[in-house]
Amino acid sequence: MRLILASNNPHKQIEFVRLLGAAGLEIAGAEAVGGMPAVEETGTSFRENARLKAEALRGRLGAEDFALADDSGLEVDALGGAPGVRSARFAGPEASDADNVAKLLTSLDGVPAPQRAARFVCVLCLLGRGTDARYFMGTCEGRILGAAAGDGGFGYDPVFQPEGYEGSFASLGRTVKDRISHRARAATALRAALNGFAADGGIS
Ligand code: IMP
Repeated sequence: MRLILASNNPHKQIEFVRLLGAAGLEIAGAEAVGGMPAVEETGTSFRENARLKAEALRGRLGAEDFALADDSGLEVDALGGAPGVRSARFAGPEASDADNVAKLLTSLDGVPAPQRAARFVCVLCLLGRGTDARYFMGTCEGRILGAAAGDGGFGYDPVFQPEGYEGSFASLGRTVKDRISHRARAATALRAALNGFAADGGIS
């Protein structure tokens, strides 16, 4: 069994290789099956968008391959759950991480700390050439800081402080992030299911 990552985001690929490679799973980028086709993320939920990305690879998979797609983002309570599925494009279609962070901080200007609750959400979609889609979810609760801090990670990491920690994901480092992040928790659920499949004699 080989997992093909249905993503062009190098940061996510690096995190997945750390999270799943250590468990002995064979992982490859979409280049291994001819590249990741462009996917319009038209879904209204993380689940729908993860499915769209995984389906885009279905026709390219070999008999032993499974596409693994991730859709993730940040939900901020004071913004009614935004940016949500629009996290990557919050400040516009070509927005950089810095643009998105700046827009988030401006949107929360004047909102006091107790009302800055937020969570990262990750939904994974796993499918093989002829299998139904399976979904795995992880969340990480926290709050949005008043200013960016730290130089690790990507996306909204500099302004997200996970619950129970002092400092942003960008300053806490990858050991902490790999233990408690939304992606780490979804990957744990996936690993548990894959162990179950192996015990049952495979996935169909
Ligand atoms: P996607 O590629 O549509 O799933 O975009 C997800 C977007 O959500 C990213 O571009 C980031 O802006 C944000 N995001 C998702 N996961 C993380 C994370 O672990 N740290 C920081 N930002 C994240």
